[in-house]
Amino acid sequence: MTLSSYTVELSGLRMRAAMFHGPENIVITEKKITKGIHDAVIKVDACAVCGYDARVYRNGHKKVKPPLVLGHEICGMTLQDINTGYGTIRSGSRVAVSPVIPCLSCEFCNKRQYNLCNNLREIGSTDDGGFAEYVKIPQQIIKSGGLVQIPDNLKSEEGALLEPLACCLNGFEHLKIEPESSVLIIGDGPIGLLHLEISKKLYQAKVAVVGKIASRIQCARSNGADGVFMFDDETEDEVMNFTDGKGANTVIVATGNPEALEFATKIASKNSTINIFSGFPNNNNFFIDPNWLHYNQISITGSFSSTPQMLQNATKLASEGKINLSRVISHRYSLDNIEQAILDTEGFRGLRVIIDKF
Ligand SMILES: [Zn+2]
Ligand SMILES: [Zn+2]
Repeated sequence: MTLSSYTVELSGLRMRAAMFHGPENIVITEKKITKGIHDAVIKVDACAVCGYDARVYRNGHKKVKPPLVLGHEICGMTLQDINTGYGTIRSGSRVAVSPVIPCLSCEFCNKRQYNLCNNLREIGSTDDGGFAEYVKIPQQIIKSGGLVQIPDNLKSEEGALLEPLACCLNGFEHLKIEPESSVLIIGDGPIGLLHLEISKKLYQAKVAVVGKIASRIQCARSNGADGVFMFDDETEDEVMNFTDGKGANTVIVATGNPEALEFATKIASKNSTINIFSGFPNNNNFFIDPNWLHYNQISITGSFSSTPQMLQNATKLASEGKINLSRVISHRYSLDNIEQAILDTEGFRGLRVIIDKF
């Protein structure tokens, strides 16, 4: 199929999409598929619900201007041959999508740090996302290598989780973890569990998970955590015991609960690094004593989203069986039940929820 015949074929085609109109207002709508000549459209096979989607659903977000289709953890099928500049992805291939739409001309894009683009747009935030039958892939994603073909041994629902896995890998780029050193993950959700698996399998660290949901803490235990702690008044002592009184060498904040920030500063060891992985509700401040940072030589880092290169690395790790993504999937819903899927995510029921019927 040539590009122009494809464009003609798509024009007039309609799709079902979950349209976000504002807080607590999502409506399944019929929508026209539109795209520019150099963009692509993929048919969505699976789109996972992120904590971010739940936050936007409840409160809106300054990046999101409704009406808009949410969903940025996407696996879909190509409908045409796509020349990426790195090679050709054949029509009918399954792909994972980097939701980052870079401008390709700013200082960060020049260094391929597309997630930091000064003119960043994102699928599922500023542009329509994957809670729909089809999603448009802007040409900037194609050119930056953000469409990654996934091998047959990965299910589409696992393909949807390559994006959050890539985000975790981005966080680890800012950490220096030695074998046997201690990693404390604050947050027992799917993202906390992915951090657990990476810390254990790729870094051979001694890992503890702190959380608030008993069933999830149980999951962390069965997924190989060396220590698991329900968050309460005793957790600080428990973590200090776990680390032989030294505190954790690495602390990963994988929850949007502001309590986690202060807690992180209490259990971080000398010379430790704290990574703030999660986004937080607006208007949060957190107090840091500069002398505590200075005298203990603490580093605090943040990480946001990921680059196409990290999505490729995530795909390799998952397809080689080094990271098992299906372990963090608990529920599957059809698009018609998108609100239930979001409420499950918000209510910490199960782990990752996937939309896989459109
Ligand atoms: Zn996400
Ligand atoms: Zn840019």
